[in-house]
Amino acid sequence: MLINIQKFSLFMFLLMFAILYAIFADYYLDQRERTASVILRGLQHDLSEIGYVFSRSITSKKDVKSFRALLERHRSQNDFVFAAMVLDDSEVLLTTDPRYNTAPSKSMVYNSAVPMSSAYEQLMKKKGIEGVIRFYEGEKRQELKLLFLLDHEELRLNMSKNKTAFLVSFGLLPILILVLAWFILQYFVIRPLEKLRQYAYYQSKVPKTFKLKELESIRSSMVQTFSRLELEQKELYSMARTDALCGLANRNALTEYLKRLIADSSRAKTEFAFLFLDLDHFKTVNDSLGHSIGDELLKEVASVIHSVLRSNDFVARVGGDEFVIVLHQYKSLVEVAEVIERIQKRLNIPWVIQTYPIEITSSIGIALYPKDGEDMISLMQHADIAMYEAKNKGRAQYHYFTKELNAKVQESIALDKSMREALKANEYELYYQPKTNVYSGKIVGVEALIRWISPSKGIIPPNVFIPLAEENGFIVELGYWVLEEALAQQIRWKEKGLDLAISINIATSQLLDPAFESKLVSVLKQSKTDPVKLDFEITEYLFFEQNKDNFEVLNTIRSLGISISLDDFGTGYSSLSYLKKFPIDNLKIDKSFVDDYDTFEGAVFLETIVKMGQALQMKIIAEGVEQKEQLEYLLAIGCDLYQGYYCSKPLCVKELEAFCQEHELG
Ligand code: C2E
Ligand code: CA
Ligand code: CA
Repeated sequence: MLINIQKFSLFMFLLMFAILYAIFADYYLDQRERTASVILRGLQHDLSEIGYVFSRSITSKKDVKSFRALLERHRSQNDFVFAAMVLDDSEVLLTTDPRYNTAPSKSMVYNSAVPMSSAYEQLMKKKGIEGVIRFYEGEKRQELKLLFLLDHEELRLNMSKNKTAFLVSFGLLPILILVLAWFILQYFVIRPLEKLRQYAYYQSKVPKTFKLKELESIRSSMVQTFSRLELEQKELYSMARTDALCGLANRNALTEYLKRLIADSSRAKTEFAFLFLDLDHFKTVNDSLGHSIGDELLKEVASVIHSVLRSNDFVARVGGDEFVIVLHQYKSLVEVAEVIERIQKRLNIPWVIQTYPIEITSSIGIALYPKDGEDMISLMQHADIAMYEAKNKGRAQYHYFTKELNAKVQESIALDKSMREALKANEYELYYQPKTNVYSGKIVGVEALIRWISPSKGIIPPNVFIPLAEENGFIVELGYWVLEEALAQQIRWKEKGLDLAISINIATSQLLDPAFESKLVSVLKQSKTDPVKLDFEITEYLFFEQNKDNFEVLNTIRSLGISISLDDFGTGYSSLSYLKKFPIDNLKIDKSFVDDYDTFEGAVFLETIVKMGQALQMKIIAEGVEQKEQLEYLLAIGCDLYQGYYCSKPLCVKELEAFCQEHELG
């Protein structure tokens, strides 16, 4: 059985208490007995002295009475005696206390129930003690009894006075000393030992320095040992997860990383790209120039890949010349392609390794989580297959696992490139679609709609390139071109006497561009247009995240005098709460609702929107009106404006100018 030091020391202290107590108790009893026997001897001495005086002085029993004063004096001198008497058998001859004028019975004097072994007991239990008076009455020897009745009250008082003093000096003091010793032991030994034990077990909190030399040396050597062990553990851990040659993560680390990433991504329902990179013809380098050059090259390749990646991307070496790269938190696959192209471009520089010029290319296969695989093994297999596809197609390229995706991504990348080039080549043009008053039929303004006039492909409508431009951020740059061009056109028209209000579509990412406000102000200044003749069409995506920024940007636009229309109303995030909160002047009802005007639900929706818009003091604009009946219906429910092929398609500048000459403006 094991017992802890705390309990052990407690037990030891209790044992010491017990022994000490026994010793003191014994000593105390001994002292008490001594005191009692001194008192007893004193009393007996008094008795014999009085007896002697009587014996010498009296000749008859009658003489006894004349010794009252002597008896009185002795009683009063002795605190422990409250009455003294002289008895002749049972007759009281003389007493100092008149209450005792009969002789006490024998049992009163001798408490025969208790064996009178000790002086203490004799004093405390007996009623009184006896002496004798012997004298000669003539020739006859007489014997009288002399009796002291004991004052037990006084005796007890005297004894307990001793007891208290004894308890204080011999009982309390040692207890205090023991308790003090206990605390000192606790502080210097027991608690440090407990701390050491905890440290040894859990290694959680390093104990502070101890006062006792031996304990302190144990503590400091423990601290040293543990920190060395921890260091070794860390080294082992990182060794088990690091590729010894190039210092990148190895397969173990990749497995761990993916486990976490897959768990996170499945929870957040996000995608990530798993890239398998293989160097082309690496074997040739190894075979012709030797392994040490091959190793050197791998190290260089590793550091290049590492430097190209963003901080939250991951790279591991999983085989001779095979690397796995994991990319996440990207906006589009075009961004993934950009990273890949950067890696391939940087690897494809002419290397000089130990004076040998080496040229190397790489093939990359891409699998996407969760589409192409939901665990590491299938992602690895599919990325590997894709990588072989890239090799088959002539190496030095990348390939997605699925053909469709591969084609789509290649297309997007080509579009991304040509879309940007088109801006430099001035291939964009604005078309304008009239906005018409439902009641009067007058033209109240136009909406600017972009067209890409490609020399090779003809007119490309915005739904082909605007979504990609929004995804990759090009829309911001393109949007500023639209803004400048629309304002410039407005001025050109004004100079020709055509004063038209223009609505411009502004993408959410452009509104949230930090430079938006300042650019807007400077463009307005340059063009000298009247902001009241401007309207910005925004979409509900702006309210996807409600924060200070999106609220402020609308306020700024408004404060400049520009009105705000909410485009495609009803198709997006449609929460009515923001309609009240944000400064919106016009609601544009999406074409799909206008198309449904002749169904019950469609009609209810349109009428509700019109009523709500009127209540909020907004103008309602119907989009995509193609038929006379639609227009008549809109008139009946009180819609303000409309756009649509019924009035006109979006027109180029020349066409619009002609259109305006034939129609009434208002
Ligand atoms: P949107 O802003 O809702 O523009 C209305 C679209 O409906 C235009 O297509 C217009 O041609 C078409 N439309 C108008 N009336 C009718 C009709 O009666 N019938 C039919 N079938 N269609 C009609 P478009 O010009 O192809 O533009 C498509 C979208 O591209 C726009 O939708 C807008 O979201 C975006 N877009 C166009 N230009 C720009 C621009 O300069 N900047 C930004 N950020 N987006 C633009
Ligand atoms: Ca629009
Ligand atoms: Ca619209």
